[in-house]
Amino acid sequence: MKFEAINFTCPNCGGYMIFSPKDGEMKCDFCDTIDPIEKGDSETREHDYYDGLDLEENQPQLSDDKEISCPKCGGSFTTQPHILSSHCHYCGTPTITKSIRSITPESLLPFILTQKEAKERLHRWIGSLWFAPTVFIKYFRGDEELQGLYIPHWSYDSSTHSIYNGERGDTYYVTVRQRVMVNGKEEFRNVQEARINWTPVDGSVSLAFDDIIIGGCETLPRALIESISPWNVGGLVHFDQRYLSGFEAEEYSTPLERGFEYAKDEMSRTIRNRIKSDIGGDEQRIHNVNTQYDDILYKNMLFPIWTATFKWKDKSYRYLINAQTGRVAGDRPYSVAKIAFLVAIILSILAAAIYYDQNRG
Ligand SMILES: [Zn+2]
Ligand SMILES: [Zn+2]
Repeated sequence: MKFEAINFTCPNCGGYMIFSPKDGEMKCDFCDTIDPIEKGDSETREHDYYDGLDLEENQPQLSDDKEISCPKCGGSFTTQPHILSSHCHYCGTPTITKSIRSITPESLLPFILTQKEAKERLHRWIGSLWFAPTVFIKYFRGDEELQGLYIPHWSYDSSTHSIYNGERGDTYYVTVRQRVMVNGKEEFRNVQEARINWTPVDGSVSLAFDDIIIGGCETLPRALIESISPWNVGGLVHFDQRYLSGFEAEEYSTPLERGFEYAKDEMSRTIRNRIKSDIGGDEQRIHNVNTQYDDILYKNMLFPIWTATFKWKDKSYRYLINAQTGRVAGDRPYSVAKIAFLVAIILSILAAAIYYDQNRG
């Protein structure tokens, strides 16, 4: 499927403009001319969940790669269908295309951390990895380029009504005779022993959830994305393609309904805690919870990250840096040599201590 790409041209020199995290505006990559982005009302509308499911159901199926022709050099190249923003493979000009989904991002968090700042965060984090292999530390202290990427997120609101049954445990004490040995002689004593009295309970709790944030991309490990949260959604601005210029961007690959299943998991943790306090007593058992979800609303948003990948011993290590807060997450390779060295030092200290102890008297 063919897609027209757009880019933003500098009014001064004709080069392309990219979003500058440092200035919070568009900036020419060649002559540094600044072009402000009009910032309208930042209020983002939330949409009815079932309307969203209808939109998804009726959207045309576009699974083919996007065929993009560069507006600058005319070269054409392909990207995966969910890529919203990329760069021309020939001349490096930003290429921003239309969405293939019916539900499109209406708001985003702009990049705040520059690549330089993101690298500093990463280096500090790497530096704190005591047992990381030296080659790995060296690589990340070098001139490696990070990739700036917008990843999709969902936000859900819902009110819940849960009916439960379970048991309430109340502690009581009984006095028991216990045999003890005192100075080699057998004696009997009265001791207090805790017991729990369980009584069946049922009830209901109602809660209202606001802005549960769920990662909307299947291209990165979910756990890794969660590790760089939280996000400050107070910084959301209206979606504008200008913010994507110079960065990669993906639209969602986790469908609206699956995203809501993840949101249910999150809500169920809060619901269970609320049920426990509703049951009261000293201990609680929950046997059944039946939750009804009402007034479900959703938002589709883009959040900014910097990423780096490092290959070491046939394994790929991926790092994410939250480009709003600077939080870093990734897999940690361990240096067997460094760990062995430390173990050797500890063992030799122990050996010396034993030797000293044996030869003291
Ligand atoms: Zn320019
Ligand atoms: Zn080009």
